[in-house]
Amino acid sequence: MAVFKDIASLRQWRQNLRGTLVLIPTMGNLHDGHLALVRLAAARAEHVLVSIYVNPLQFGPREDFATYPRTLDRDLQRLHEAGCQTVFTPDDGLMYPRGRQDICVVMPPHSLSKVLCGASRPGHFAGVCTVLSKLLHIVAPEILILGEKDYQQLRIVQQMVADLNLNVQVLPAPLQREADGLAYSSRNAFLSPAERRIAPLLAETLFDLARRSGGRTAVSDLRMAGWESLEQSGFLPDYLELRDGQTLQPLSVPQTGARWFAAAHLGQTRLIDNVIVP
Ligand code: AMP
Repeated sequence: MAVFKDIASLRQWRQNLRGTLVLIPTMGNLHDGHLALVRLAAARAEHVLVSIYVNPLQFGPREDFATYPRTLDRDLQRLHEAGCQTVFTPDDGLMYPRGRQDICVVMPPHSLSKVLCGASRPGHFAGVCTVLSKLLHIVAPEILILGEKDYQQLRIVQQMVADLNLNVQVLPAPLQREADGLAYSSRNAFLSPAERRIAPLLAETLFDLARRSGGRTAVSDLRMAGWESLEQSGFLPDYLELRDGQTLQPLSVPQTGARWFAAAHLGQTRLIDNVIVP
């Protein structure tokens, strides 16, 4: 497995590459959800490149950038076992050589980026779009795979690719869950054993709301019931909303492609999840 740490040698490798290349951007601490993306990539293209970079630009000042789990040796081992051939592991000096102030950034549209996670994480999606456009320019893949776990991120990046005419196909990957329904996430590592037992109730609540959407109960009542049940289980909900899967605008009546979205704190850990309305 080739591990690139600088741009020049990666570009040289890219220039000589024949066949389709997929980029899977990650922040490391790889779990089975990430590895499902690698398998999807391997089925779609000859070459798979996983980037591992904890991007400081997408973390707010009071967020978990400093404590975000960094497990590079184990990640490389897992990628090797999963059949990934190429990894890019840039550092801050490579990605932001002039620092992070006063640089060009990519601003996503407000309608998609100021809602849901964007409302409580100002600047987060500009940080995501900026680092992803840099990675796309460095790696020049034909396909970019993003997980539906971060559904808002997926929609924003799809819009960025369309608005900026980027020459890449965005391929969404289905959200992967543990056996008890909890969405795989690097942040699950922060959960205490007691919190880990409660955590699947987030997905359970969303599946319950999705099942009941379109029935006799109004969306506002469903939302209130879901919010209360999360609180009673020990979560501190940030948002719980039914939104359109394309525009991410709120819906008072379920329609095809609608999704329930949630973010909730469990102790110090912020979990997100989403479920499509059948
Ligand atoms: P992250 O390392 O959290 O930035 O995630 C890297 C990529 O993996 C993103 O496209 C995520 O949406 C995707 N991903 C993370 N967790 C999951 C999951 N449970 N199921 C599917 N994709 C995921």
